[in-house]
Amino acid sequence: MKDIIQTIIENGKNFPDQVAVKHNDESLTYEALNQYADHLAVILKDTKSPLILYGHMSPYMIVGMIGSIKAGCGYVPIDTSTPQERVVSIINKIAPQYLLNTTDAQLHIEGPSIITTTALLNVDGDSPIENSINDSAIAYTIFTSGSTGEPKGVQISYESLNLFTNWMIQLNQLGLNQQWLNQAPFSFDLSVMSIYPCLATAGTLNLVDKTMINKPKLLNQMLEETQINVWVSTPSFMEMCLMLPHLTEAHYSSLKEFFFCGEMLAHRTAQLLQQRFPSAFIYNTYGPTEATVAVTSVLITEDIIKKYNPLPVGIPQSGTSLTLTEEGELVILGKCVSEGYVKDKTRSEKVFKMQDGQKAYYTGDKAQLKDNQWFINGRIDYQIKLNGYRMELEEIECQLREVDYVREAIVVPMYRDGKVINLNAVVVLNHVEDHMDNQTITHQIKKELKRLIPEYMIPKKITYTDKLPLTMNGKLDRKKIAEDLLK
Ligand code: AMP
Repeated sequence: MKDIIQTIIENGKNFPDQVAVKHNDESLTYEALNQYADHLAVILKDTKSPLILYGHMSPYMIVGMIGSIKAGCGYVPIDTSTPQERVVSIINKIAPQYLLNTTDAQLHIEGPSIITTTALLNVDGDSPIENSINDSAIAYTIFTSGSTGEPKGVQISYESLNLFTNWMIQLNQLGLNQQWLNQAPFSFDLSVMSIYPCLATAGTLNLVDKTMINKPKLLNQMLEETQINVWVSTPSFMEMCLMLPHLTEAHYSSLKEFFFCGEMLAHRTAQLLQQRFPSAFIYNTYGPTEATVAVTSVLITEDIIKKYNPLPVGIPQSGTSLTLTEEGELVILGKCVSEGYVKDKTRSEKVFKMQDGQKAYYTGDKAQLKDNQWFINGRIDYQIKLNGYRMELEEIECQLREVDYVREAIVVPMYRDGKVINLNAVVVLNHVEDHMDNQTITHQIKKELKRLIPEYMIPKKITYTDKLPLTMNGKLDRKKIAEDLLK
C-alpha cells in the first residue's frame, strides 16, 4: 500500500517542477509544496491539537493539509463561506493552538496563534522533514451539519485516509501525471476524493472556486485553459456543467474519467453524460463523511444505464463490508469507519458501534442489494406519512423524472401542526412546446404520473423554476427549496 505522504515526498524528487496545485494564476510545484509543508510541519511539531485550515481555494490550503499531517496533528478545514457563529463553535470545540489563514483577510478570532502564508515562504535552512504521523492518528476532522444544528466533527485516521486513497488509485484508469478537477470546497469531504489520489499519482489538482460555480462563463474559461483528464464533483455540479455546449468528447477530448459522490447520480444525468463522452470512464461512488468519503463504486456503462433506473452505487472496496438492519438501514463496517465525532460521546454512541470486532457506522440510508449491486433508496428520515400512507419522497421524485417534460424534480412535504397535509413538487422542465402554459403542463405531468405511482403520492401542487438551488458543497439544497415554497 502506498503511504500518501511518502509518495508526495518522492513526487517532489521525481517531478520537482510539475505543478501540484493550481487555482487561477496561483500554482505550486511539487518541490514548493513539499518545502512549504515541511516549513509548516516545523512550526507545528509540538502541537497536540489539530491545525485549523481557513480559506477557500488557495493552493496553500493543500500545504496546510500536508504540513499538518506530516507534523502528526492533522487539520480541520473551514471554508470562507462558513458563518462566523459556526467558525466560533468549531474553534471552541477543537481548542486549536494554530490557525493557518490562507486568505488576505484579517481574522478576528480568539484563541489560536494565526500563521499567515508569508510565514510559510521563509524556507531557508529547513531540511526535509520525515513523516511523523502514525496510522491511528487523526489526519483530518471535517464538520458536517447535525440535525440539531450543532455541527459534528467527523474524525478520520491516517490509516483510513491511506486505504481510501489507495482504493481510488486502483479505480483510476489513467495513471500518473493527470490533470484533476476539484469542485468541492475543502470543508466537504468530496474534495478528499480528488486531493490525495491526484497528489499520490503526481497529478495537477485544478481548483474550481465559488465564483466559477456562479458564473459558468468563468468556469468555461478555466476548462478551456486547462485540459482536464479526471473530473471529481457532485452530480448536481455535473448537471449544471452539461449546459455548457462545448462539454463533449469531440470538443474536449482530454476528459476521460468522472468520479461522482455525495448524492444520487440521476439516471438522466448519467445517460446524457455517457452520450456526450461515450469513451469515458464514469464512476458512481457512495459513502458518508463518517466512512471516509466513499465505500462503494460502480463503473456506469451503457449496459448499466439500460438495465437500471435508479442506478446502482456498486460494490464495496475490499476490507469494507455492508449489512442491513431489519428496518433496511445500511451499516458500513471496516477500517474506513471514523473514530467518532470529536468530543461528542453521546452523538457518537448513537451511530458508531463495534460489531464482530469491527468498527460499524449506521448510515441512516436505506439500501438494497440486487444482482450483487447495492442501491441506495433514500434516507430513513425522508420517509413520510400522508393520510396514513407511508411513502418515500425520493421515489416520487424518481418517477417525476421519468415524465418526458421533467428534467429535475424535488418533492417537498407541507406540514401543519407537525403533520404532512400535502405534497408540493418543484420542477425544472425540459424543452416544452411554445403553446403549452404551466397549467397544461401540470395537467400532463399529473396524467403521466398516474400511470407510474398511486394517486395518493401525486403532488398536489407543481411549481416551475429554471434552476434548482445548490448548497455551498454543490449538492441540491432541499432546505432552501422548502423555505422558498413557504414564502
Ligand atoms: P456526506 O457525508 O455529506 O458526503 O453525505 C453522505 C450522504 O449522501 C449519504 O449518507 C447518502 O445519503 C448520500 N449519498 C452519497 N453518495 C451517494 C450516491 N452515490 N447515491 C445516493 N446517495 C448518496
